[in-house]
Amino acid sequence: MQKIRVRAHAKINLYLDVVGKREDGYHDLETIFHSIGLYDDVIISKQEANDITVHCEHPRVPCDSRNLAYQAAEFLSDAAGGLGGVRIDIYKRIPVAAGLAGGSANAAAVLHGMNELFGLGFTQETLMRFGVQLGADVPFCLHGGAALGLGIGDRLTRLPTLFDVPLLLLNPGTEISTAAIFKKLNFSLTTHEKEGIIIKTYIKKGDVVGIGKNLYNLLEVPVFSQYPEIAALKTELSTQAGCYGTLMSGSGATVFAVMRNSDTACKSESYFKSKVSFCATTVTSPVGVYIDN
Ligand code: ATP
Repeated sequence: MQKIRVRAHAKINLYLDVVGKREDGYHDLETIFHSIGLYDDVIISKQEANDITVHCEHPRVPCDSRNLAYQAAEFLSDAAGGLGGVRIDIYKRIPVAAGLAGGSANAAAVLHGMNELFGLGFTQETLMRFGVQLGADVPFCLHGGAALGLGIGDRLTRLPTLFDVPLLLLNPGTEISTAAIFKKLNFSLTTHEKEGIIIKTYIKKGDVVGIGKNLYNLLEVPVFSQYPEIAALKTELSTQAGCYGTLMSGSGATVFAVMRNSDTACKSESYFKSKVSFCATTVTSPVGVYIDN
């Protein structure tokens, strides 16, 4: 095999609380991730030249060693003791810097894809351990489906997957610095993990109405105070027919709605299409990375 094609799925957070600050400067989170149907195509090919090259036409995606996919390839190559040349082509559909883990998904796709392409035999657990060194969301992107994430989001416990729940995603195109948003949170150096997140019980029951009513993201507070237009977009989204609940994903700026069915999702999509820079209907996905040869 010379080449492998991997779907790199985006994620949303159905719940995100910050429960403490760590000595290394990171924050401890309590979050619930879910993979979604929106994905980038990542094609990994063996190449003769003994280097790593990344090709991506998106103007905001670097094609050098700053690219998380490049870093994943370099990391795996080092871990395997050298693998020769690798070319990575990325076809972006996931909006960049949008709280949907696009870069992390690309890195996860490279770890998973190269492991298969070169027959390295690393276990999923080992790949996830490699992944956290590239980015906090990479382990979840490898895991896929639904999971509770503790620590920096890397200590994962599987939750029941929600199948084909209709979602509408809106991104106003606002660039938000994740680091700046976390800086606004005034946490002491302690961690208090809370118990009994209510939304978990609705996820376990597959109760989509209950999930819609109990979506929560603490980061909405600092983001909405700085960018009131994102709060206004979320309010407008919540008034759409068939909307069970809305939330900002990660540190934004994407907001999403859990919708009653694909029909209401499509109608709302037409309504928002001319108002935002990115608007898409999708569904919850059972996978984070998927080999698509
Ligand atoms: P998260 O939800 O994990 O915080 P995000 O979805 O908000 O991530 P990304 O789309 O991963 O953000 O982009 C964050 C930054 O990473 C961008 O500024 C972008 O230039 C850079 N980047 C590096 N590699 C990639 C990649 N493969 N795809 C997208 N962005 C990348």
